[in-house]
Formats: sequence, C-alpha cells, structure tokens
Amino acid sequence: MAEKEDAEPGAPRSLRANSLFSEDELSEEQGDAVSGGPSPSASPSPSLHPPAPAFPSSSSSGSEDMGGTPLSPPLRAGWLDKNPPQGSYIYQRRWVKLDADYLRYFDSEKDAYSKRFIPVSSISRITSIGDQKFEVITNNRNFVFRAESDADRNEWIRTLQQVVEERRRTSMSPGSSGVPPELPDRSGFLELRGFKHKLFVVVAGDKVFLYKNAEDYRLGIGITYIEMNVGNVKEVDRRGFDLTTPYRTFSFVADSEQEKEEWVEAMQQSIAEALSNSEVAERIWALESNRSCADCGSPKPDWASINLCVVICKRCAGEHRGLGPSITKVRSLKMDRKVWTEELIELFQHIGNAVANQFWAANVPPSESIGPGSGSRERRRFLTAKYREGKYRRYHPLFGNQEELDRALCAAVTTSDLAETQALLFCGAAVSCATGDPQCPSPLALAQRSGQRLQMEFLLHNRSSEPPRLEVGGSEEKPYSVPLPSVTHHGFLYKTPSMAKPIGERKGPEEFSRRWCTLQDGLLSYYESDRSAAPNGELRAEEMVCLVHNAPHTHGIENTFEVYMESERLYLFGLEKPDSAREWLKSIAKSFVHPCAEELLALDFERIGRLHYKGGLNLERAKEGWFALVGSVLHVCFQDSERQEPLQLRKLQELSIQGDNEVLVLVERRRTLYIQGERKLDFLGWVQAIQKAAGSSGDTLSEQQLTESDVPLLVDRCIDYITQCGLTSEGIYRKSGQNSKTTSLLEMLRRDARSVRLKEGEHHVDDVANTLKRFFRDLGDGLFTRRWGQDWLRATALEDEEVKISEYRQLLGTLPTVNRATLKSLINHLFRVQRFSGENQMNTHNLAIVFGPTLFQMDGKDYKAGRVVEDLISHYVKIFNVNDQEMKKQQDEIMAIMKMREAASSGTQQAGDFICTVYLEEKKTEAEQHVKIPATMTAEELTFEILDRRKVVMKEKDYWSCYEVNEREEAERPLHYSEKVLPILHCLGTESYLVVKKQMAMENMLIYLASRGGDCKHGLMKFREERNLLGLGLSTGFHDRYFILSHRCLRLYREVRSHKPEKEWPVRNLRVYLGIKKKLRPPTCWGFTVFYENEKHEKQQWYLCCDTQADLREWFATFLHVQHGGALWPSESSKVRTSRWQQDSRLGNISLIPLRGNESEMRNSVAAFATDPLTLLRNV
Ligand SMILES: [Zn+2]
Repeated sequence: MAEKEDAEPGAPRSLRANSLFSEDELSEEQGDAVSGGPSPSASPSPSLHPPAPAFPSSSSSGSEDMGGTPLSPPLRAGWLDKNPPQGSYIYQRRWVKLDADYLRYFDSEKDAYSKRFIPVSSISRITSIGDQKFEVITNNRNFVFRAESDADRNEWIRTLQQVVEERRRTSMSPGSSGVPPELPDRSGFLELRGFKHKLFVVVAGDKVFLYKNAEDYRLGIGITYIEMNVGNVKEVDRRGFDLTTPYRTFSFVADSEQEKEEWVEAMQQSIAEALSNSEVAERIWALESNRSCADCGSPKPDWASINLCVVICKRCAGEHRGLGPSITKVRSLKMDRKVWTEELIELFQHIGNAVANQFWAANVPPSESIGPGSGSRERRRFLTAKYREGKYRRYHPLFGNQEELDRALCAAVTTSDLAETQALLFCGAAVSCATGDPQCPSPLALAQRSGQRLQMEFLLHNRSSEPPRLEVGGSEEKPYSVPLPSVTHHGFLYKTPSMAKPIGERKGPEEFSRRWCTLQDGLLSYYESDRSAAPNGELRAEEMVCLVHNAPHTHGIENTFEVYMESERLYLFGLEKPDSAREWLKSIAKSFVHPCAEELLALDFERIGRLHYKGGLNLERAKEGWFALVGSVLHVCFQDSERQEPLQLRKLQELSIQGDNEVLVLVERRRTLYIQGERKLDFLGWVQAIQKAAGSSGDTLSEQQLTESDVPLLVDRCIDYITQCGLTSEGIYRKSGQNSKTTSLLEMLRRDARSVRLKEGEHHVDDVANTLKRFFRDLGDGLFTRRWGQDWLRATALEDEEVKISEYRQLLGTLPTVNRATLKSLINHLFRVQRFSGENQMNTHNLAIVFGPTLFQMDGKDYKAGRVVEDLISHYVKIFNVNDQEMKKQQDEIMAIMKMREAASSGTQQAGDFICTVYLEEKKTEAEQHVKIPATMTAEELTFEILDRRKVVMKEKDYWSCYEVNEREEAERPLHYSEKVLPILHCLGTESYLVVKKQMAMENMLIYLASRGGDCKHGLMKFREERNLLGLGLSTGFHDRYFILSHRCLRLYREVRSHKPEKEWPVRNLRVYLGIKKKLRPPTCWGFTVFYENEKHEKQQWYLCCDTQADLREWFATFLHVQHGGALWPSESSKVRTSRWQQDSRLGNISLIPLRGNESEMRNSVAAFATDPLTLLRNV
C-alpha cells in the first residue's frame, strides 16, 4: 500500500520551476529568503531552530521537552544524501535533523525552515537497504537516504528506531496521535507568494504548518512549520498579509477580505498563545508528575483544574468543563494569563498531579482507568467517578463526622500541610465552617493569620466547590454533564470599566465607551471596534454568576444591564434600544444559565443567576440553585426538583439576614430557605433586590405585603390587634386617635408590616383603628376599585332585598382576589365589632357611617356608601358564603377573647373563669381539651385536670407537667407546678399554646440537685445575643462565655479568668425556655432561649448553648432551683422521689465539684474540671 514518494524534480532549475507541488518549491523559488536567512548565532542547528519552549497542545505529543529546556534538541543531525526522485540520478544533499517529534530535512544546516517534515509518529518502519542506504517507511510514502558510511547509516537507523519505539511506548495508539495537528484552530488554502499553487495552511496552538495539499495534511507530512513565538502578522493589502519571522517573511494572500481577517486573527491568537504563558507552563512542568495528564497520562498537558490543582491534557480539560465549575475550574496554562498568580503556581508545585492523585486516584481499578487514547465517553465516565463522585479517593479517617472534619480543617489550614487540607475538604469539611474564633471566623481567616499563603489560595479556589458525592448515579443523565448551549450574538454595546464594588451612583453617558461585542462559544468578548482582531477583554459564560436588568434610565444610557462574575467583578453594559437590550439579556442568560434551569429563561427577569442555598430536610450541605427575580416573585430551580418553584416574596413570614456567614433567611409558610453569600458582590445585590421585592411597592392593595390568604399584612395586623384588645373599647373606629401616632404607625406598617408587632400598652386601640381607616381612605384605586365602585353604590337602590344581595355577590365576584379577600376580612371584623355594641356603642349603622365614606373614599354627605357597608355587615353570612363551621369557630374565638379580657380587667383574685385550649402530649385536634381556667388554678392543678379528663393514670416517676410552647421561637418551658396559669395565658402570644406532657429530664435533674445540694453553677456556654441592627436582626453568632449562676444573679464573663462580669441579670426576671430556633443554627442541639425584661419593661432575648445534654440539664435544674427556692417538684409526689433517693442514696453526699472557696477560686477549679459531672455519677 505504500507508494514511492512523488516524483521529485531532480532536473535542473529551469525544468523544475514548472513542476507542480514540488516539495522543493519553497527553497527553489524563495531560495534566497530561506537559505540565505540570517542566523542569530553561529552555533549549528539549535540556534537556527527558533526557540520553542512550549509545544502546541494540539500537535504531536513528544516527550523530549519535559525537562523544561526551552529547545527541542535534535537527537541526531547530519548531512545525508536523499534518494533522487524518479527520473533523476542525482542524489540531493540535505541537512537532516531528527528530534522526538519530527524527522526533517533542510537545504543547509543554517536553515530555519525545513523542506519536509515527517512526524515520528507516522513512521512505521526503518530498514537498511544496502549501499549505506536506509529507508524510512510511513503508511503512504517511503523516503530513502544514503549515509556516508555504513557506520553512519547504522547509527541513523538505530536512533530512528529508538525514537519510534519510544513514541510507541508513550502513546497507546500509534498512528492515531500526532500525525495531523489535532483540532486545528484554523485550516485552509492560502496563496504563498512565490508558489504557483495554493498551500494548505494550518494554524494549531502556537504553530503554523504548511502542507502542499490537504491530502498531505491528512497524512501529516508537511513542508515546514513556523513557531509563532517569533512571528509577527501584518496586513498588507485587501487580501494579503505577511507573517514575518527573523528568518523569513511569508507573504500570504487569502481568497477574500473576510478570510484574510480571519487568518490574521487566527495567527495573532497563535502568537498570543506562543508568547503568553510558556513561563507558567514551564514552572509548573518543572515537577515531573505535572508533565503528564493527571487523568489520562497524556504527555505535555497544558491545561489545569485550578481548584483541584491538577495539570491535564486538552481532551480531559474538555470533559472537566462538562463537570461544571463547582467541581472543577478549568484554565489553560498558556492562555489564561491572569489567573496564574505566584501563589497558584506555587500551589501547583506543591500539590500538582502527584499529591492530588495520591488522594483522588488512591484506588483506581485498572479496568476503569483511562489512557491518552481513550474516547470521550470513557473519559467522561472516569472523570465523573473520580471527581464528582470521589469514587477512587482515599477517605480521610474523619470522613462522615462533619464536626470533626471541620475542626480538623481549621487546624490544617494553619499548617503547611496542603495534602491534609485537600483530603479534608474533599471528604466533606465545609470550606466556610465556623471556627468559633470571632477574630478569624472562617478557615480562610485562620490561614491568613497563620501566614499560610498557599492554604489561602487553595481555600479561595475551592470556595464554591462541591465535595464529591457518591450517591449521584447515572452521570450521563445528570444536568451537570450537559454542556452549556452555544449562543451567538453580536453588536455594539456601551461599556464601563469593570468594577469590584456595587454600582453606587448613576453613571453618566460619558463614562461609557462604545465597544463591539460578540457572544460566541461561551465567551462574551468586547473589542475596540468591529474591525479589531483581538478583543480588549473576555467574559467566560461559565464564570458568570448573575445577570441584572436595570430599570430604564438607571444610568446615562437608557437601557443597562450588569454581568457579575465569579471573580467578584461586575460589568455594566448599556444600549439605547430596549428591544436590543432584551435580546442581549436573553442571549447572555441562555449562555450561562444551566440547562436544568432553562425554564427561568422564559421569564422577564430583573435578575437571574446562581446562588448557594440550604433548605428542605438536609441543612448540612449547601446546594447550588438557579434564581430569577420577577416583580415580587422569586423563581427558584432547586438542585433536585423537577420544576422551578415560585416564592411569593410579599407573602414571606420572615425575611432576615443572619450574621457571620451572611445568610439570607426566607421563611415561607412552613418552609425556610437559606441563601448563602458565597460571593460578596452578587449576593449583596440579591439581598437588596429581594428585600425591595418583599416590601410594599405601591399604594394599591395588591402591592402590599400579604398574608397567606391574600389580605394585606397591614390590614391583618390592625384587625388582629383590635380583635385582641379593642372589641369592647367604647367608640372604637369612631373616636379619632392621635394624628401624629397614626401617621407614624401607618408609615411603619407600610414600610415593612412584617417587622411590626403591635403590643398592648405600646399602641392605643384608637390609634390602630385610625391607622386602618387611613390606610383604606388613601388606598390607590380604593377597596371597591374605581371601575366597580359606582356599581356597588347603585346596587343600594335595589328594593328587593334578595335581588340586592345577589347583586352584591356578583359584584364581589368581579373584584380582584386581594380586594375580595380584604373586604371579607374587614367585614368579618366589623361583624364581630357590632356584636359587642353593648360595650363599644358601635352598632352596624354606626360602623357604616364611619366606614362607608372611608372605603368609598368620599365625603359623608350621601349615605349610599354607608348603606353598602351596612348591607354587607347585616348580610355578612349570605354575601360572603360563610358556613356554620366557620361561624362557630369565630364565636368561640370571640368568647375566649372576651373571657380573657374580663379576667384581665378583674384581676387575678376574681373568679372570672375562662376557657382555654390545652393539648395532651402534642398539638393536634384529637388531643385538644377546652378547660375552664379559674384565676387560682396552678399548673399542677391544670395538669391533673387534663390527665383526669383523659383518664391518664400518673405512674411513679412520670413527671407530668404543663408546658408553654412557643412555636415561633421553637422553644418550650415547663411551668413550675406552683405557677398560676391565668397570667401566663394573658401573655401567651398567638404563636404559643399549652400542652401537658411528661418532663423527661426531671428525674435526672432531681438526682443532680440532690447530689449537688448547692444552688449555683459555673461553666462555659456558647452565648448569642440578638442585636437589632438596621432592622436586619444581625448577630455575631455563638461565642464561648463563662457563666456563674448563683442564688440571685446570672453573670457573664468574657473568659474564665476575667475579673469583672460583662453582664449581669437578676435570675427572677429571666424566663428560660428549652430550645433554640434552628434558623439561628445553634452549634449544638442543647440550648436555651432566654427572655429578660427589666424594670423599665425593656425586653431582651438571647441564647445559650451547652455542649452536652447533661450540661443542659444541670443548668436548667439550677435555674429552676434558684428561681423557685429549691422546690422543683410538688411535695405530694415526694414519695416517688424518696424511694428513688433511697435506691441511690450513696450518691447523695458526693460533691462532684469542689464548691468551697471564693468565686475566683471556684471558677479556676471548675475551669480545670471540664468533665460532665453526670457522666462521673454514672460511673460511681
Ligand atoms: Zn488527559
């Protein structure tokens, strides 16, 4: 199948000039330029060969350059006679040079550019054919050379065979690799001045290859290649351009102007690649293990994953990309100049492929490993298993123990042990775990304090990395491996310089520059003009984290949008036309939003991007979700859910920012979502936008913050308050409140009703009543709407009552949802108010006189408006379709409220019994009991009452107690048996209830107190204070503090050895609840929520957390002991305890902690005695 080489012109010049496709054309017709080219140095071949420090990623994959030497040293060079072509007898004397990649021959030893190159990888055999000749056999052509002696010939054969062997050993699939440059950046025909026929030119990596034709290119056998590190490209005329090197100028002519520009750009890119980072690559390759791909072993890898710290080949890099940047961040050693900081390079010299693979590839079964010849599917499977699932990794001994992992990480980052940090991080340690050190709240800060630059660099690049997860199966279907769609868009955009801070002020038009922008292959590039070849800058779509569509006229250019990058930079673009702006936004969003969230692309978003969140049942690990904000709705594509979920921000129950780690907490119905500020810049923007969207945006009903049932929160708060405190207030809604108070209350509620709590004593009922009225009077579009208002008024004229009611019902149906819900809620409220007209003097007519003109926003001259309200109240049940059950529930509520108020006003001594709902064991309808609570009833009596009713027999050691449960705070407090229930009920908020259940800790508490006999306790607890900054509820998190609880006071010390307490509280004024709401992320599950109210009725709330359950029990026992003078359990049951004590009497007088001495002595001894006393007790 091998044919003899093409006829080669061996005839004299004149003849040869006519020969087509002559391999010698280069020298024959451009002879002077090549052979006569100046040589920069007198030394032979190496200096003639332009320095080539870095091999193109795309061409062959030899290995001789691995030592970091800048040159490709010839393995053998010398004069040989080349076989004459057919029809000729004249041998041609050629300077022949062999290196690890190519066998080349030149006219002379001074030449920089060969007449022919034959890739070593395409050589199949070398044979001796006598007469000092040898034949180099490739798949398609044979080349015959004649040496000067047999010895010389044999030496050539030996060296060639060696090189070919070596090549076969290192590349698994001979023949397939390296023949034509793989994946050329550009290829095609170009005229080269001086040649009759067009040459096939290939730009690949940092080289330009010249071939006689496309067939030669396919075979890999070319004329010469030009190392572009010495190249310079210049446009000459419309279609012509010159590639100049110190040795020769190549004058090319393209087919069209357009093509010329593309060629020039490709060659400029090639120069940029050749020049850019060969230095970086060499420094990283200085480590032997970095000289072959960490994943497949291909030589000369010039790509890297900067968070995993591995050097990889181009093909593996492609598959790494598919895993997504939360697993691996792919960069080029040569082209991504900016990313390679000194620290990052050093990091690769310390970790690199060797250390990384000791961890990642500790257990790779040979059957699963890949090689340089592996296909793309195999690679993807292997890389998914290796990095996404962590299948082959070496497990850290602490794997599975989150707390220990985090602790170990905090320790490791202060040392130079990067391998340990790597193992911890990728076995699940949280990169931003709490360190417990307020000065250095994150591992990054710890590393910084310890001066560990490389640890810092490593942590920084892994800020948003996901640790491997084995449970992810079937990687093929996983959205992560889906490459981002390639979107193409281009046009002129106005652009400001990028920023590292949020845009504070309006940017004037003069601050924008017009740039030609292209979006292609996941790159948004901007150019000086549409004629510029090289971009001024590029934004990678995979690094985009957020895209914001600004409101029109936010800046000097009418339409603007912002692009936020992972690197915490922000780019502002602008355009004049809104339509084009929308097109750009859609295109950019499409290029970076993950296909799993493509649903979001259909929305008219103001802001779209990815954020880390926690939510649902698993709060341990943050996941990445895609978020889009549209009006007041936040659309979320959670990682595991099929469809996007809309979150109605105006209906949130709570929206707050949690301190240290910067977490935005959104509480919606029963769900809580935590959005984490992985990066500062875009997170800040999200927080502000979400806060704004969650507030009221205007003065119409639907623009208000809403309850779940679509009633404005403001209305709901006011009605609720009047119902609780104002039903019996004389002239309610008629009397005017204080104008200034009404104004300020309305303003407060309008700003953020969610954060306003109306309290008796703080707010007067008349002020609240007037606030509600003012709200309706000023309401944009009115409650009945401008469109339908007149119809309501007209309906009053209908004489037939039934017809009128049905007309009202029909009109009600035409109201917008929010108006309808609000009207029903208000009329329901007024219906209740008139039921108390005996006390409040406000019957239906009186209420109608007040509310008619208010709701219809008119003066009170005409009673029509009043008539509507009067009708609505009178026919409330019919018009609003209220069923019996609903009615009964309302009656009960009113009853309960009345009883409570009566009892409150008549003082505790009076027998103003009232009914209260108490649950047995848990809050559910079946466990409900309605109990009449006399003013004198104690918690113990209430407990017996409930147990009696339910026929529950109190057994020995069953410590049944009555608990006050606060659902909002997720905390509960067992009432002391002697506490009166009624006053507690008066203070009980809507989120609280009473339940009777066993107090499981009582027995142990009693044992503890009996063994101690003291009434004080000292020790460390984690303390957290709620500080209200700017209404955001910012807090500094939990911190270790030393506490002393004595018979009167609880004192807080900053440290064990502090002399003065930082804070001091009288114990009697403390209400101690067990439990801390999960939202605050307490460090352990053994915590207290403590409420404190001083003499001035100023309230505080803070949290304490213990390390063990026993510790919690002891503190709680001591609190109760101190607050109730030692009596924790009623004396009637003392028999139970006595018998218990008898059993354990030997423990009775063991003092576990030395308690004598002054306070500081005690504290010092306690500090040295950290063991859990109850544990000791059990071991006695
Ligand atoms: Zn590879």
